[in-house]
Amino acid sequence: LLSMGMLSACSNGAQKAGDNGTAAAGDASSAKIGLLLPDNVTERYASADKPYFEEKVKDLCAGCTVSYANADGDAAKQQQQAESMLTQGVDVLVLDPFDGKAAAAIVNQAKSKNVPVISYDRLVDSGDVSYYVSFDNEKVGQLQAQALVDKMKDLGLPSDAGIIMVNGSPTDPNAAQFKKGAHSVIDGSGLKVLAEYDTPGWEPTKAQDWVSGQVTKFGDKIKGVYDANDDTAGGAIAALKGGGITPLPPVTGQDAALSGIQRILAGDQYMTVYKAFKPEAYQAAELAVSLAKGESPKADASADTASGVSIPSFLLTPVAVTVDNIKDTVIKDGLYTVDQICTSA
Ligand code: BGC
Repeated sequence: LLSMGMLSACSNGAQKAGDNGTAAAGDASSAKIGLLLPDNVTERYASADKPYFEEKVKDLCAGCTVSYANADGDAAKQQQQAESMLTQGVDVLVLDPFDGKAAAAIVNQAKSKNVPVISYDRLVDSGDVSYYVSFDNEKVGQLQAQALVDKMKDLGLPSDAGIIMVNGSPTDPNAAQFKKGAHSVIDGSGLKVLAEYDTPGWEPTKAQDWVSGQVTKFGDKIKGVYDANDDTAGGAIAALKGGGITPLPPVTGQDAALSGIQRILAGDQYMTVYKAFKPEAYQAAELAVSLAKGESPKADASADTASGVSIPSFLLTPVAVTVDNIKDTVIKDGLYTVDQICTSA
């Protein structure tokens, strides 16, 4: 059955937004750019960031090539992938670390070969990172938690109702920031955190198993679920359904993954945070091409590594998405067409 939200979002035509109008540079250079992503269990990393990154590199520099590797949730594997790219002679590395601390070794090796490193989405804990491209990640956690607190109030739940928290991977520096932002809202709200979990490698199956255990323990005392991203939220929702919790409590997420948007339209997930990963990938591609040309673009912001070193940064703004603004965000931006959202929903 189509929900009201689904009806309105699915019956209005998609407004495909064009690209942001950046002129192709037509550069004849033949730089090699390495792109290293952290896992394949997260929709964006399995299917979205890479093609956007490659598209922008090609647009700016027809002769440039992109080598790509995905660490599949394994820091040692990422280390080997980086070494192999450095041996192949990449000119720039764009690194989204599986483990923000362990990846400092990759940055060291790159530095010894004079290869600049752009930290992509997650900040490597190394003062030798050249640039960082990401979002305000503490803000992401605040948006998620505020949406949950407000929704629980709207539902008329008691101000000390119980929630559980499914955080991200302990190896991901962003996960700590999402959690910090979330706690800054939840801790002052009166809501009772019944239990909290850091999901190893952001693996949806681990999130699902943990939530199943909490359902057994707390049953329908669970009135809300803070979940740090859409893929683990998918696991959490499967566990809630499997445990027979009805109605489903509001569940948060992040990424505006296609599956997350579909669950929001179906009424299974309450919200997500849209971090526009297409402009993020484009920004990283532009920077990589500039660095390959020997330029040092001026960054408009800075962010601190876990050890407190300030890195020149480009930080984009996250946006909370519920059923009410899917049309004005991901559809308007051309991230998904209505058909994509509706046909496979
Ligand atoms: C990213 C999220 C992603 C998560 C799991 C985080 O570092 O910021 O967008 O969902 O990792 O891969």
